[in-house]
Amino acid sequence: MSEPSRPRLAITPIPALDDNYIWLLQADDRRQAACVDPGEAEPVLAVLAARGLELTAILITHHHPDHTAGIAELVAAYPDALVCGPRDRRLKGLTRVVGEGDEAAVPGLAAGFRVLEVPGHTASHIAYLGPTPDDDALFCGDTLFTAGCGRVFDGTCAQLAASLARLAALPPTTLCYCAHEYTLANLGFAAWVEPDNPARAARQADAERRRAAGEPTVPATLALELATNPFLRTGEPAVRAAAERFAGQPLDASPPPRIEVFTALRRWKDTEYD
Ligand SMILES: [Zn+2]
Repeated sequence: MSEPSRPRLAITPIPALDDNYIWLLQADDRRQAACVDPGEAEPVLAVLAARGLELTAILITHHHPDHTAGIAELVAAYPDALVCGPRDRRLKGLTRVVGEGDEAAVPGLAAGFRVLEVPGHTASHIAYLGPTPDDDALFCGDTLFTAGCGRVFDGTCAQLAASLARLAALPPTTLCYCAHEYTLANLGFAAWVEPDNPARAARQADAERRRAAGEPTVPATLALELATNPFLRTGEPAVRAAAERFAGQPLDASPPPRIEVFTALRRWKDTEYD
């Protein structure tokens, strides 16, 4: 028996603010759409109007304004839209609070997303993995970036190391839809950490070509992140050695989440790179 066919989910970036991506999710047989982390409303409203789409859901990964400032204006235009996000008093306007293991069913898309709690960048940051049952798209906000990771604001380095270790264990074919275009800047730091990693050098050339052509470098496969992103490579001897040179002392090499190596890399990038 063949499986019932599911609509293909088209996922496109809407560039916003300086370097944010608001992800637009659209089932190819419907006129409804959802968006992830609208840091502003105007570019989303423009795309919806141009494509004749109705916004039925807004998914939020964390409370920072560059991910949420568009909520009120979008809801004013689409009052029935579901607004889904983590429990956090700083996050206003949610109609559904979700946490670990919840499935966020997205109205109008015939698609659901599983919620992963991934604290560290903020204490209440979540990610969405889906659409179920394929689970091949990860909306990871500011937790995992292409070739990097988020800074630690009100979470901790230990939390972020554990969250990244968790994401690193997802299938390597998972596409990572982070919320910023930071790839080239992150690869510059990756070159400090692993100057001799050929996969990093190849990614640098590819990312430069794409940016020169005005194309996004996001999403990227988790496989590419595992090969090039120093924050997912804390188990590599060369990465640990580089972190130890910065820290000026030997660092714990035990299995993931390798908090000491991760923390040294994060501090190194924060204090000396950007
Ligand atoms: Zn953020």
